[in-house]
Amino acid sequence: MNSIILKGRAKINLTLDVVGKRENGYHDLEMIMQTVNLYDTIYIRKTKVPGVRLKSNYSWLPTNEKNIAYRAAELFFEETGIHGGVAIEITKRIPVAAGLAGGSTDAAATLVGLNRIYETNYSKEKLMEMGLKLGADVPFCIARGTMLAEGIGEVLTPLEPMPSTYVVLVKPPFSASTATVYKSLDINNIKKHPDTQKVIQALKDHDVKEIAKNMANVLEEVTISMHPEIDQIKQGFIKCGAMGTMMSGSGTTVFGLFENEEVAKKASRYFKSQHNIREVYVTTTYSAYHSNAKAHRGQRKVLKRRGVKG
Ligand code: ATP
Repeated sequence: MNSIILKGRAKINLTLDVVGKRENGYHDLEMIMQTVNLYDTIYIRKTKVPGVRLKSNYSWLPTNEKNIAYRAAELFFEETGIHGGVAIEITKRIPVAAGLAGGSTDAAATLVGLNRIYETNYSKEKLMEMGLKLGADVPFCIARGTMLAEGIGEVLTPLEPMPSTYVVLVKPPFSASTATVYKSLDINNIKKHPDTQKVIQALKDHDVKEIAKNMANVLEEVTISMHPEIDQIKQGFIKCGAMGTMMSGSGTTVFGLFENEEVAKKASRYFKSQHNIREVYVTTTYSAYHSNAKAHRGQRKVLKRRGVKG
């Protein structure tokens, strides 16, 4: 096989809690992550000339080691000792610097794709360990589905898959630096922590309304204080009949969960026309379990036993 085309899907958080701070400044997290079906396309082709070449449909996106997919390819060649060459073409659809793990998912797809075209046969767990060297969200982007993420986000436990649900993503025309948001969080004065166990139970009960009702993200109050528009978008979602609404990651994307496709599409039109926001997407939750039930069952055991540690 000389080339492969992969989908790098985005993620949302159903919960995000900060449960501690390490001496090195890193935060200990507890969050429920969910893959959604909005994706970047990553085309990967073996080249005779060694080294990494990368291009994308966005002229302003870096094409050198500043691009995390480029670094993923370099890491792959370094770890495998293969003196190989690759051309990567990324078609981005996932909003950039938005709390949707857009870069991490491109890196994840690059590792998975290189493993296939170079026939290195590394296990998913080995690729996840490799991915962790690139970023805390990369292992999740390789595993995908519905997971509890602890540590800095890399200790993953698969949860009962989220039932298929419509998701409307609204990315306002401004971004928030993840580092600044975490630095601004006063962990001793958090107003509202999520009840993570309650959401895990709601997942077990396949109760989407209960999941939606209990979603919470401790970073929201920080990002909202910088960008009050985020709260206005949340209010908009409630007005449009969302079962629940929350900011994803450190923002600035806000999403709403909907039972019904028509209502979701109506909400999308509302944000485009009334809030004048260009980056609005209607998508659905993705379940690794449904698409590959047998493989996922095996994976659940491995992950539960070993976790994925740095
Ligand atoms: P996370 O949710 O993991 O914090 P994010 O969705 O907030 O991620 P990204 O879309 O990954 O953020 O982008 C963060 C930064 O990384 C941007 O400033 C962007 O220039 C840079 N970047 C590097 N490579 C990529 C890539 N392949 N796709 C998107 N952004 C990239």
